[in-house]
Amino acid sequence: MFSSITAAAPVIIDCPKCRKQVWSVTNEGIESDGRTIADDGDTIRMRMPHPLTAWTQIDQLLLVGTCHHCGQRYWYAEAAYPSVPVANWTIGTPQFNFDEQGGLSFSRVNGTFHGTDQLPGGGTWYVVRYNASWQGAEIIIDQHIVGLHVNGKSMIGGNGVSSCGGNAAIWSSAAKLVEMITPKAVAFLAESRAAS
Ligand SMILES: [Zn+2]
Repeated sequence: MFSSITAAAPVIIDCPKCRKQVWSVTNEGIESDGRTIADDGDTIRMRMPHPLTAWTQIDQLLLVGTCHHCGQRYWYAEAAYPSVPVANWTIGTPQFNFDEQGGLSFSRVNGTFHGTDQLPGGGTWYVVRYNASWQGAEIIIDQHIVGLHVNGKSMIGGNGVSSCGGNAAIWSSAAKLVEMITPKAVAFLAESRAAS
């Protein structure tokens, strides 16, 4: 039923231009040779798709980074889905910079996966599953990464990467990508909860 997401460890994420490795995902998290993965980003403002009703606290971002091999600017969409509704949390970076007051803490990467669906724009779909705890309970958080796409440069305006500036078409594309993956992301989480 969920054949669109398959195990793929380790996940290697390549530059969309030179195809050299820019990230990898290990049990320690996302690695990029000590370099930053994203330079800037902002929340994607969008209406949540219908299947997301029980997951109102997902966080979805458009992020822009730079390939450390060839200098290409890239962008990608990221959306994180907790297995239970988690209040007042945000993802500041792909490394999960959470508000301590939210009481959410991560233990380790639980698995990495690769979405096999054809996505518009040639992007690739990755999922990093984390074990976490929330209010004393063990939960799962799936971080979905869709990208990388060339064309980050036009996303950066006078105020950095902002949903109220830059290239509106790319913000729209990012929202559509999140909307597209959400039903499968929610189903994938539901499967994990049923199995636990
Ligand atoms: Zn490159």
